[in-house]
Amino acid sequence: MPGLIEKLGLKPGVIYGDDVLNLFKYAREHGFALPAINVTSSSTVVAALEAARDAKAPIVLQVSNGGAAYFAGKGISNDGQKASVAGSIAAAHYIRSIAPVYGVPVVLHTDHCAKKLLPWLDGMMDADEAFFKEHGVPLFSSHMIDLSEDPVDYNISTTAKYLQRAAPWKQWLEMEIGITGGEEDGVNNEDVDNNSLYTQPEDIWNIYQTLSPISPYFSIAAGFGNVHGVYQPGNVKLQPDLLAKHQAFVADKLKSDDKKPVFFVFHGGSGSSVDDFRTAIGHGVVKVNLDTDLQWAYLSGHRDYITKNIEYLKTQVGNPNGPDKPNKKYYDPRVWVREGEKTMKARVVQALEDFKATGSL
Ligand SMILES: [Zn+2]
Repeated sequence: MPGLIEKLGLKPGVIYGDDVLNLFKYAREHGFALPAINVTSSSTVVAALEAARDAKAPIVLQVSNGGAAYFAGKGISNDGQKASVAGSIAAAHYIRSIAPVYGVPVVLHTDHCAKKLLPWLDGMMDADEAFFKEHGVPLFSSHMIDLSEDPVDYNISTTAKYLQRAAPWKQWLEMEIGITGGEEDGVNNEDVDNNSLYTQPEDIWNIYQTLSPISPYFSIAAGFGNVHGVYQPGNVKLQPDLLAKHQAFVADKLKSDDKKPVFFVFHGGSGSSVDDFRTAIGHGVVKVNLDTDLQWAYLSGHRDYITKNIEYLKTQVGNPNGPDKPNKKYYDPRVWVREGEKTMKARVVQALEDFKATGSL
């Protein structure tokens, strides 16, 4: 699978508009997907970028509402979503400036935005609008709006309004229908009714019909038994084959030769089997969200480093080699934070492999 950069004319760094559309179309056609990595700091950003560079693949970097607030610093108030707006904008500028150095195309995205968080999305889109006026491109490639907990009509009509706003600057919008179970970022769906975990094909058609006249830049996170986080196996079963039914339903309505007209997103990817990923990707999933597994991977490097070097980390001076030996080179953050970057990077490299994106550039 050769030369995406050459074939699609993609440039290293943050891409938007038709470049994102062409990338996702190409991925859908050729059966691969991009991992979407939740980043919370410059350290997690560079770990993900390094993985993409070494695997020669494009990547999606995203900030969640809580991740954005963390990027801004936990010491400031998030009243009126101020910290989340400022943090996501800071992350965007950081990623924009550093991504080209890694030589990979990056889709810069923001994660779940529920109804109560809409001021966050509004604040980011104000920044997109201002950036567009100055540079002719939006600040972010893409946002997610997630009104899946609200009535379907409200979900679709409000999503349509946001897509309308994003359309002039060709920004992608990901929406959710059906519910991803589990718990993430303070949204707890551990007790929802199982039926709402599986999206119906009529809903997908309804969304497609409403959104596609506005702009082609949208994707759907449909529920097929996905769960955020990693738990003991429960009674909800992942059914990626449902996505094939949705595609067939929409293709039939459109009387289209295109067998996969819809762009799907796979939420709650952590803990899923490679088979499930690949089945879903075969049915038009172009982006797979991975968060929990990466949090775990990032911790692993720090934990193992500290466990192994604990005798060098108890005092600034004095270790098993002598009471006057300095420990500076053990507690320098460039040493121990780096260990987490290495283990996180390795997990992203594995995801790129699992989703068949490796070597696509
Ligand atoms: Zn999600």
